[in-house]
Amino acid sequence: MIRQGHTNGQAPVNGRTPAANERSPAGVRGPSRAPGTSPSLVTRAVRSGLGADTGHRAVMPPIHLSSNFLFDSPGVYGKYDYTRSGNPTRDLVADAIADLEGGCGAVVTSSGMSAISVVTRLLSAGDLLLAPRDCYGGSHRLFTAEAERGSYRARFIDPTDPAALAEARTLRPRVIWLETPSNPLLRITDIAAWARLSREIGAICVVDNTFLSPVNQRPLDHGADLVVHSTTKFLNGHSDVVGGAVVAADPDLLEEVAWWTNAAGVAGSPFDAYLTLRGTRTLHARSRIHEANALEVVAALRRHEAVARVYHPSLPEHPGHEIAARQQSGWGSLISFELHGGREAVDAFVNGLECFALAESLGGVESLVAHPAK
Ligand code: PLP
Repeated sequence: MIRQGHTNGQAPVNGRTPAANERSPAGVRGPSRAPGTSPSLVTRAVRSGLGADTGHRAVMPPIHLSSNFLFDSPGVYGKYDYTRSGNPTRDLVADAIADLEGGCGAVVTSSGMSAISVVTRLLSAGDLLLAPRDCYGGSHRLFTAEAERGSYRARFIDPTDPAALAEARTLRPRVIWLETPSNPLLRITDIAAWARLSREIGAICVVDNTFLSPVNQRPLDHGADLVVHSTTKFLNGHSDVVGGAVVAADPDLLEEVAWWTNAAGVAGSPFDAYLTLRGTRTLHARSRIHEANALEVVAALRRHEAVARVYHPSLPEHPGHEIAARQQSGWGSLISFELHGGREAVDAFVNGLECFALAESLGGVESLVAHPAK
């Protein structure tokens, strides 16, 4: 059964259905409408930016590729002056993503990594960043390299271990970085527990939500301060854009990340913004199909004698199953598994696939397979 309408279309698995992720009225923020009158996220995603063209009344918003905008007289101009600082097409997708995540606003960047690097600019020398040992490899590389240059201190922990919470309280980090589910074992971190701690100790809680997208998880609803995306993945969803976004829960943080995005010159291009906005319109529909397919694949893998172990949060034996059921509104469509027979078996399996492409990335309409150890 697939839920529709005001919920996010999530199939119950093994008798459990992850929590619905429509914001509670009390949690309504930012560009969303008044509590009680708000259309569902599905409707808002489909309609985002419609009617924005006041010039010709185009139904779908036009793309503004211009790098600059006319001044009336020296120093006097309208909403936009220069596309690095602001662009109408990019603003539309930023508003759409902020709305989907329940934030007060967002910046849209040239890649997921530039979104992440905008957030690390919030750290000063001596500040501590806590990040998961198994965070995305590119994030790990950036945090390590910036820490080695003295930009800040970085420490890698296991955020699924309750002892790490107690340790973090004494370490007093400035930024707590979470990524849940993690790659490749899809380990689940309790966002609310870390967000609570962050609030207590004055840290900024950041969640990389790339693996689930706001259809399946909304970290700001659990108390996080910032959400980061590689929009390259599910949000654009067609493997034809490299982009990123940072969504903020409060205007002060938004102003800071927007300042750095402009100062560092890492805002996304209008053309990429146009494609990404188009992608967000079908995010819910794609996610439903992704997940239904993933659940079928999980079931088939579990039945197969060549498979040693399957990792997916929908499985009751998955260590993060309970937390995922609570904090996610969908199980997600990334699956990891182990084969009997080691590397040779993996190579034979990958080479024998017909409908999966061997490539890096995730979240596009095509099915991909990757072997992270190679
Ligand atoms: N975060 C996660 C979880 C990712 O998987 C990736 C890329 O694979 C990134 C961030 C970086 O995004 P991009 O490749 O768009 O720079």
